[in-house]
Amino acid sequence: MNALAPYKRLTIKIGSALLVDKQGKLRADWLAGLSADIAALQAGGCEVVIVSSGAIALGRGLLSLSAVALTLEQSQAAASAGQIALSQAWAEALGRHQIVTGQILITPNITEERRYYLNARTTIATLLGLGAIPIINENDSVATAEIRYGDNDRLSARVATMIEADCLVLLSDVDGLYTAPPAKDPNAEHLPVIRQITPAIEAMAGGAASHLSRGGMTTKVEAGKIATQAGTAMIIAKGTEDHPLKALTEGGRHTLFLPAQSRAQARKRWIMGTLAVSGTLQVDAGAARALLTGKSLLPIGVTKVTGDFGRGDAIAIRNQDGVEIARALVGLDSDEARLVMGKRSDAVVELLGAGNRAVLVHRDNMVLVGTQEETEHEPG
Ligand code: GLU
Repeated sequence: MNALAPYKRLTIKIGSALLVDKQGKLRADWLAGLSADIAALQAGGCEVVIVSSGAIALGRGLLSLSAVALTLEQSQAAASAGQIALSQAWAEALGRHQIVTGQILITPNITEERRYYLNARTTIATLLGLGAIPIINENDSVATAEIRYGDNDRLSARVATMIEADCLVLLSDVDGLYTAPPAKDPNAEHLPVIRQITPAIEAMAGGAASHLSRGGMTTKVEAGKIATQAGTAMIIAKGTEDHPLKALTEGGRHTLFLPAQSRAQARKRWIMGTLAVSGTLQVDAGAARALLTGKSLLPIGVTKVTGDFGRGDAIAIRNQDGVEIARALVGLDSDEARLVMGKRSDAVVELLGAGNRAVLVHRDNMVLVGTQEETEHEPG
């Protein structure tokens, strides 16, 4: 069975131990095979975002840092040197398939703060729209202990939910979750499908880590919680052999974590439930009708802006009678919104300058009230 067949947008996380050998050298042949798999997925119509570890492991070799445990300063220096080599390796490997790569280095504030979040999301969606493959890693050389993920398992789960991937694939040196650590317990049984991450499942994850990666099974199950709660499936599969993604499409062993709810539900809950509204946009009858048919909100339809909000804040959209018809994450701040309200899109571009978005609220960032309807759209 092709485990990847149901998915249109994948986030694939590659662990350090797969990309870099114990001597700190890039496993170039393996990367070539993986890149061929990625190119085949893309040719089949799937969008792929890569979260790649390996900067510290490569940088260690480049800087001849041989200590078993690096100090924080040393690992940040290693990440700095290694990230260049890592990006270059990806650009070359995917470049052989005429695929352009874009590098994005992330810190937790980017995935957790809405303004950055929306920007990163838009950049990634734009790269994907242009046929490029984003290569993402943590910005290890500047992130301090308090503000870093520290492991790319959870980072990749946040990236996957941020870009609304259907599935997160964690490639590592194990082929899935077992009832007990298989290296220690000969009776450990492989679990093909996890429907819900219960405390019992968490207990099975134990704490084992491989020689290079920070994340053991514990951070993988943590990643599973982040992904499945947001409506993204997760697969843990073994990546050590050549062509690991092809293997997954040909029935290779793995563990599938099923999403706990649909992405539309998750997003709706998030927008409706957890965010305080910091302002309102009142819209005319035409705009109200357009919103109800799934359109984005353009400045021309807005008659009044109240409150003081920043780009990415939650706002309420009201009709002419003052009835809330939608709740949304707004694309402009309140000053900009006041400047452009009632204006046609060409005038908006002139007022805000080219390169600014003329859409006030994108349909993907909006939930209609009343009908409680939300259609799923590709971010863009
Ligand atoms: N960001 C780290 C690196 O590139 C890897 C973290 C991890 O292995 O999970 O070296």
